[in-house]
Amino acid sequence: MVDLRPNSEIADGIHWIKGYSNNYIIESGDDLILIDTNMNRKAKGIMRYIRSELSDKRVSKVFLTHHHVDHVNGAHVVEKVFHPIIYINERDADYVIHPKRRPLPRNWLIKPLFFVVDPFIRNRAVHGVEYVVDGQQVDGISALFLPGHTEGSMGFLRNGVMFSGDAVVTDRRGNASLPPGVFTENMEQAKASFKKLAGFDFEVLVGGHGPPILEGASERVKEAVERLGL
Ligand SMILES: [Zn+2]
Repeated sequence: MVDLRPNSEIADGIHWIKGYSNNYIIESGDDLILIDTNMNRKAKGIMRYIRSELSDKRVSKVFLTHHHVDHVNGAHVVEKVFHPIIYINERDADYVIHPKRRPLPRNWLIKPLFFVVDPFIRNRAVHGVEYVVDGQQVDGISALFLPGHTEGSMGFLRNGVMFSGDAVVTDRRGNASLPPGVFTENMEQAKASFKKLAGFDFEVLVGGHGPPILEGASERVKEAVERLGL
């Protein structure tokens, strides 16, 4: 049963939880796997959803697509309750293991805002971190190194479902696009990663922002490579 609303099961055993970013819960046997954890308060929303809809299962693993606060800040909320293994690429891991200032956006208009706000939204440390690398297989998930949006951005492919993080953003018409330049550390790398991702076959694409693409998703990414002249 497919139901394209946030905070529901959008594909078999895959739940879409929307906050400041998209987060996903995968049912894997008796366990749950989380893709990204949102920010503190929104992570509590993920926990509430698990309690009400999936209460007999526990989160054993968390995969973080990249270090941005709207994707990782809630990891400590999940860790406190479930003590999962938290996978993140080594290049982005410092920001969750040893909280420190993240690189500020380069855009001069929003940079001062982030400079002021950043200390207050600093990631809280998590402890159960393991590094994840390109090509690694964990519980039927293939990890994909997709640097550019951040140095250590990762995507995760499982049973024809691509969890792209912010390497790809989607819109309501089912188009795939590059992440916004102001929040992207290296746009040339991000373009190369977008092309790399287009080389895989997957039916569903669920990204960090924008609605899921539930059919023919890899074709939409290939179209975007053409459209954007990559
Ligand atoms: Zn991001």
